[in-house]
Amino acid sequence: MAERATDQGLVQRKLRLLMELRRAGIADARILGAIERTPREQFVAPAFADQAYENVALPIDHGQTISQPYVVALMTEKLEISERHKVLEIGTGSGYQTAILARLGRRVFTIERHRELLQAAEVRLDALRLRNIVFRLGDGAQGWPEQVPFDRVIVTAAAEVVPSTLIDCLAPGGLLVAPVGCDRRNQQLLRIRRGEDGFATEDFGLVRFVPLVAGLPRQERA
Ligand code: SAH
Repeated sequence: MAERATDQGLVQRKLRLLMELRRAGIADARILGAIERTPREQFVAPAFADQAYENVALPIDHGQTISQPYVVALMTEKLEISERHKVLEIGTGSGYQTAILARLGRRVFTIERHRELLQAAEVRLDALRLRNIVFRLGDGAQGWPEQVPFDRVIVTAAAEVVPSTLIDCLAPGGLLVAPVGCDRRNQQLLRIRRGEDGFATEDFGLVRFVPLVAGLPRQERA
């Protein structure tokens, strides 16, 4: 009984969040549908499950965060992702953004530098039967050379500049979305498009992400 009441609460909160996202300008029904079908409470520790449908970032292990739902929706929208696209994601974290990408794209290649986060994400996404995802432990700034080119690249950790390796791995017409800036609190959400005669950059305003950190944590380097 108590459990059913909780489930009911989550359903209500999820509907409220979807309305909030719509009000905030997220209009793409495919993106809203992907968010609706993805149980965000499963991507956070049980202690945070009741906040899973608040429009806020929440802490995950290793001092990282699961992104705010609005920012996940916004970045996904700016990525203009379709079922034909091969996607590279840097910063798997909880795997929540990965799930949304996997529901919309053809195949997702995701890189995370913390082994525990990567493994936990892999278990969650497998449980959701999202099987079009390939996981890698590593420094995302190095890209995924064996799989170049990518139609879409998304970086979910902030860097002072977008690593050139990631820009170079875009297919013609490809899009990259990333938070960029030297301020730890605020970065610009940028989109880079590989056009016929070079790259074009657009700015979609301020976001806040944990930093993109070079290399692997010490315990993984052996
Ligand atoms: N999209 C994730 C956001 C996680 S926070 C989510 O919604 O859960 C950003 C993640 O990027 C962290 O897990 C952090 O460990 C990872 N990260 C930071 N620098 C990285 C790098 N150079 N390569 C791969 N992952 C990195």
